[in-house]
Amino acid sequence: MKDAIVIDFRSDTLTKPCSEMIKVMTEAEVGDDVYGEDPSVSRLERIASEMMGKEDALFVPSGTQSNLLALLTHCGRGDEYIAGQAAHLYRYEGGGAAVLGGIQPQPISFEADSTLDLNSVKSVIKPDDSHFARTKLLCLENTQAGQVLSLDYLKAAHQFTVDHTLGLHLDGARVFNAAVKLNVHVSEITQYFDTVSVCLSKGLGAPVGSVLCGGQPFIKEARRWRKVLGGGMRQAGILAAAGIFGLTHNVERLAEDHDNAAYLAQALSEIEALSVEFSPEQTNMVFISMDEGCVESLNNTMLAKGIQIAAEPRTRLVIHKDISKSDIDTAIDVFKAFFKGV
Ligand SMILES: *Cc1c(COP(=O)(O)O)cnc(C)c1O
Repeated sequence: MKDAIVIDFRSDTLTKPCSEMIKVMTEAEVGDDVYGEDPSVSRLERIASEMMGKEDALFVPSGTQSNLLALLTHCGRGDEYIAGQAAHLYRYEGGGAAVLGGIQPQPISFEADSTLDLNSVKSVIKPDDSHFARTKLLCLENTQAGQVLSLDYLKAAHQFTVDHTLGLHLDGARVFNAAVKLNVHVSEITQYFDTVSVCLSKGLGAPVGSVLCGGQPFIKEARRWRKVLGGGMRQAGILAAAGIFGLTHNVERLAEDHDNAAYLAQALSEIEALSVEFSPEQTNMVFISMDEGCVESLNNTMLAKGIQIAAEPRTRLVIHKDISKSDIDTAIDVFKAFFKGV
C-alpha cells in the first residue's frame, strides 16, 4: 500500500486548519450575511479593511471571485484592464472578466523581477477613439511567482496610474508574504492601490475565502456583484472565524516559510542535475528545472516516500506552515539520493 502523503510542496493552498482554528470556527457567532447580520463576517471585514488601510472590505468564497468582482466593479462592458501574461487574474481565472463582464484583457509580459515595465504599460494604453476598448485599470500581483515588488516600484506605478487616470488593483493573494519579506506593515504596500484582493486560504491557513478591500462605494458595488455571481453566503461566520484566526495568528510566522524556502534552495543548488531559481526577492517558492527524462521517475520516487511535488521540467516547490524544517531535510535527502542515481 502506498504511504499517505505527508509533505506536500504543490501549493500553499494545501495548508489545513489547525486545531485552534477549528475551535474558533465551531464557536463562531453567526447570522445571515446576505442580510448583513453575521457578526463574524462583519468582524473579519472590519479587521481586513483596517489592516489594509481601506474604508471597507468584502468576504468572498475565493481569490478568483475576489479578482473578478474587482474587474467587474472597476470596468464595464467595452473597457479594458492591463495585466501580466502570467497574472493569475488574466491567465488562470477562466477569462471570467471577458465571459461575464464584456471586459477585454490587455496582457503584457512580466519582467524577470515580476514587475510590469511602465513604459510597456504606457505603450498599450489605448487612445480615446471608437476603434479601441477604453483602458481603465492596471493590475499588479504581489507576490508574483513568489517574488516581492519593491515599494519604490509600487510608488512609481501608483503615480503612473494617477497620471494616466487609470485605477490600480492589487492581486495580493500573498501580499502578507510580501509585507513580511519587506518587514513592513501590509498597509505600506496596499496604500498605493485603489483595491486589494487577499487570500485567506493560502499561507494564512484558512480552509476557504478571500477578502476584497477598497473604498466604501466600490465595496458596495462589489457586494452587489458578489450576489449576482452567487457568492452571497449565509452563516458564513464559521468560515470568517478561520480567516480572522489566520490574519491574527499566521502572518508573522510566514518568515519561517521564507527561511525554509531559502534553506531548501541552497541545499538543492548543490545538486548538479538541477537548476535552481531563488532570487533575493523570493519569498516562499523555489523553482527547479531538470531534464524532462527525470520527471516521471522523480515523481514516483517522491510519492513512494510520501512527498508530493507534481514534478515538471520546471517545477514550483511551495513552502507553507504544514512543511517543517525537518520535512525539508527529509525531502532534500530524497532529492540527493535520486539525483545521485541518475
Ligand atoms: C490562488 C491565487 C488566486 C485565486 O485564489 P483562489 O482562491 O484559488 O480562487 C489569485 N491570484 C493569485 C496570485 C493566486 O495565487
